[in-house]
Amino acid sequence: MESLSGRKKVLEQKPMNFWERMYLPAIFRGMAITFMHMFKKKETIYYPEKEREFSENWRGMHSLKRDEQGRERCTACGLCALSCPAEAITMIAAEREKGEEHLYREEKYAAVYEINMLRCIFCGLCEEACPKEAIYLDGPIVPADYLRKDFIYGKDKLVEQPITELEALKAAQD
Ligand code: SF4
Ligand code: SF4
Repeated sequence: MESLSGRKKVLEQKPMNFWERMYLPAIFRGMAITFMHMFKKKETIYYPEKEREFSENWRGMHSLKRDEQGRERCTACGLCALSCPAEAITMIAAEREKGEEHLYREEKYAAVYEINMLRCIFCGLCEEACPKEAIYLDGPIVPADYLRKDFIYGKDKLVEQPITELEALKAAQD
């Protein structure tokens, strides 16, 4: 029957000859291919003993950055969450109190900031959307885990380690 698109091809099935019915040539060809692969360079990396080199634009785990004085850069504007196609980011904003100027750079900060690593597709849109240079995907591989709840990373895992008092003092003097 004519196909609607006119592109249908009728394939004729030729009867197999004697050698094809023996299957031996196909088996030997398959074994030869397997044999050749035994001497090829192995692509498998024995992680975590060995680590693959990543490209410069590699996107790993997120990190919430601090400024030169060790204060959290994030101002909880929510642009990263809005730009996230996977809806992986949630946050709760809070007002900075008097005396907390050394902890948070802006008047508003993220009291809670969570990323669901099972939802994240590491597209980097949160990084691009951030007006405060507060989030970068420059961390390591997100490690495997057993429970879903353990893939929800909070500020304890995401915020950069605080800089030492000496480093903050030096930065303030510069
Ligand atoms: S990398 Fe993409 S998917 Fe992951 S949190 Fe950022 S915007 Fe969402
Ligand atoms: S990480 Fe950047 S975009 Fe996201 S809430 Fe903080 S300041 Fe806004």
